[in-house]
Amino acid sequence: MDKHDDLIRDNIAGIKKRIAAAAARANRSAGEISLLAVTKYVSLQDIRTAIQAGIKLIGENRVQDGQKKFAQIGPAVSWHMLGHLQTNKARPAAAIFDMVQSVDSTRVADALDRAAGGLDRQLDVLLEVNIGGEEQKFGVAPDAVPELAAYVRRKSNLRLRGMMAMAPYVENAELVRPFFRHMANLFQRLRAELDVPQWDTLSMGMTNDFEIAVEEGSTLVRIGTGIFSTQGMKESA
Ligand SMILES: *Cc1c(COP(=O)(O)O)cnc(C)c1O
Repeated sequence: MDKHDDLIRDNIAGIKKRIAAAAARANRSAGEISLLAVTKYVSLQDIRTAIQAGIKLIGENRVQDGQKKFAQIGPAVSWHMLGHLQTNKARPAAAIFDMVQSVDSTRVADALDRAAGGLDRQLDVLLEVNIGGEEQKFGVAPDAVPELAAYVRRKSNLRLRGMMAMAPYVENAELVRPFFRHMANLFQRLRAELDVPQWDTLSMGMTNDFEIAVEEGSTLVRIGTGIFSTQGMKESA
């Protein structure tokens, strides 16, 4: 085992502790929050180290990268698509990913539903919400979520599990708290309105802001740099 393996293991242990502490501050149980390792730019060896350290959820941003890594590592872990999905990639995406977190249009939902049906499988999906209203980001506007959710829940090969959001990047992560709070409110409201039994996943929080996301109700944090970067993590203020 080399030093970088140790670093990855230490980073994962540190993040789990910080998730537990953030959960405790919000009177939540740490068991409600899943840790997903974002492995774009990460080598197979480092992914294997993370899996040995207990990581069970892997996130990729591109279908092609996911395919290559899935071919080597296989289905023992759960594979999540995080990046924007082009509809012509729906079939390979539905073949390897357990969950697509980036559904942001009826077109993408239609393509995934057809692809999953053709493969005779049920695909878990989240709606990607552009919580900060940023032009350069994908995702539906918060106001448009109820309508898209009502559409997706009728797709027979898709299981609508919840929502994913990326907060605007800011130096002081405390500034994103209102965005996360807004997401959590929308999540609770839709749970009541939609009547979707498996509506259980609110994916928010990355290296820079995951503790605030957990305090505000995230059930799944997506960490890349904080696990794999040789710089290790910046301690939060
Ligand atoms: C890259 C990425 C992450 C992880 O970001 P870090 O800041 O490296 O933790 C999480 N979610 C999405 C959608 C990403 O593209």
